[in-house]
Amino acid sequence: MKAVVCVPGGTEVAEVPDPAPGPGELVVQVDSCGLCGSDVHAVEHGTTAEGQILGHEFAGRVVALGAGVTGWRDGDPVAVDPLGSCGTCRACARGVPFICPAAPNIGIHPEAGGAYAEYIAVPASQAVRLPAELPVWLGSAAEPLAVAMNAVKLARLAPGDRVLVYGAGPIGLNAIIALKLAGVEHIVAAGRSRARRAAAEALGVTDVIDTRAISVPDYSASTGVRFTAVLECSGAPNASDDALAVLEPAGVLVELGVVSHLVSAPIIALVGNGTTIVGSCAFDHVTYQEAVDAIASGQAPVGSLVSERVDLAGTPDALYRLRRPGDLVRVLCMPGVAAGTQSAGTGTS
Ligand SMILES: [Zn+2]
Ligand SMILES: [Zn+2]
Repeated sequence: MKAVVCVPGGTEVAEVPDPAPGPGELVVQVDSCGLCGSDVHAVEHGTTAEGQILGHEFAGRVVALGAGVTGWRDGDPVAVDPLGSCGTCRACARGVPFICPAAPNIGIHPEAGGAYAEYIAVPASQAVRLPAELPVWLGSAAEPLAVAMNAVKLARLAPGDRVLVYGAGPIGLNAIIALKLAGVEHIVAAGRSRARRAAAEALGVTDVIDTRAISVPDYSASTGVRFTAVLECSGAPNASDDALAVLEPAGVLVELGVVSHLVSAPIIALVGNGTTIVGSCAFDHVTYQEAVDAIASGQAPVGSLVSERVDLAGTPDALYRLRRPGDLVRVLCMPGVAAGTQSAGTGTS
C-alpha cells in the first residue's frame, strides 16, 4: 500500500507492506485523516523516527478482522480512538491514557502505525462504530473534538460562565463547538488569522478579538469582561500571562497549547484568587465516544472547519504548508481521493 512516511527533513509517499490484522485487531481502509498541528511540529522539529507513519485523527471502513474479533463486518464505518490504554495502570486510572506506558498511541508512537496511509491495523477495542448514514469523513473530526471536550470538562463550567478561547486554530475552533455543546453562552475567541477568526464568528461566538489589533488584557479592560475560564489553544509566548490577567476570582486556565518556553506562575496572585491552572492532556475513551455521538447527532458542526482536502500525494506538501498555516483551518488527507479532485469538498465519502 501507499503511505506518507517520515524522512529526514519532511515526509514522502512510499510503498510499504499492507498491514495484516493481529489478534484482536481490525484493518481499516482509511477514508480520511486530519492533519494535526502536532504532526506538523513533530516533522518540523525532527522528533519522528525515519519511516514512521503519522496520522491520528481518522475514520474509515473495516476491511479485515483479526483472530478473536467479533461484532464487526466488512464495510462497517468506524472512527478510531488513537490512544491505547491498558485500563489498569496509574495513568489510565487517573484519566490520562495518553501517557499509558503499556499501550502505544496510533499515529504518535512509531510502533503503532498511522493513518496517513491507505490501510491501518488497529485494536478493535479502540474502534467506535459510525452510523451508516453519516459521511465517514466526519468521523475523523472526533479526535480533535474529544481534545476540546476534555478541556471543557476540566474548566468545570456552570450556566452563566464566560469563557475565552485563546487561539482560533483547529483546536480553538473545536473548543468553541465543545463549549456550545456544554451549554456555554458567552464565548469570546481571540486569534490572529483573519480566516480563523471568521470561522470562530461563523460558529456563533459572542465576540472575536483580533489580537493583532488589541491585546487580550486591553480587551478585558476596555469591555469590563473577565472570564471564568480561558482555554489556551494558541501556544503563543504571552498567552498564559494574558489569560491569568483576565480571569475572574476562582477562574480556571486550561492549557492546551504546547509551549516549549518556561512560563513563570504568579503564585501569590494565584493563591489570593483561588485560580486553577490545569494542563489538558488528550482525552479518555468515554470522551472520545461522546465526541463521536455529538458528531453523529449533527449537533457538532465539525464539517465546517475543513478548508482543504488532499490525497496521499498532496499530504507531504500540506504538512509543510501548515508550518505557516495562515488562513488554513483544517486539512484532511483522503487516501481514496483521486489527485485533482481533492478540493471538491463533496460532503460525502
Ligand atoms: Zn491531533
Ligand atoms: Zn495504562
